[in-house]
Amino acid sequence: MKAYQEWLEAWDRARGWDRVSPSHTLVHVMEELGEVARLMLAWEGYKEAPGPEALHDALEEELSDVFVFLFKLAYQLDVDVEAALVRGQAKAEGRYDDVTAARAMLARYHARQAEAADRLLKGPGTG
Ligand SMILES: [Mg+2]
Repeated sequence: MKAYQEWLEAWDRARGWDRVSPSHTLVHVMEELGEVARLMLAWEGYKEAPGPEALHDALEEELSDVFVFLFKLAYQLDVDVEAALVRGQAKAEGRYDDVTAARAMLARYHARQAEAADRLLKGPGTG
């Protein structure tokens, strides 16, 4: 990961692309996330999908674009992504170490999703 981040920064520097505002890089992250969001709507059947393989390829490409601009934002803000993820991993392990409790949270989520889907299927005013 560190090697990728260093490669990206060198790639951008060679082209002068490192000299853009970090806030514009963040907007670019959001633009790419929007492309992922559009594909997710197709993935979940809200929009027409081009077919499973083409959809998967497109998702792969757009998620890659998101990562590129997140890595760029990180180097612009002098954040070492690899070190940050190691810290994040420790944080997750501290917060959600109890697997039984985590599975109970998931069960509550699934129950709420089932209720929401049921309300959508039944229509308005049905509780
Ligand atoms: Mg894109």
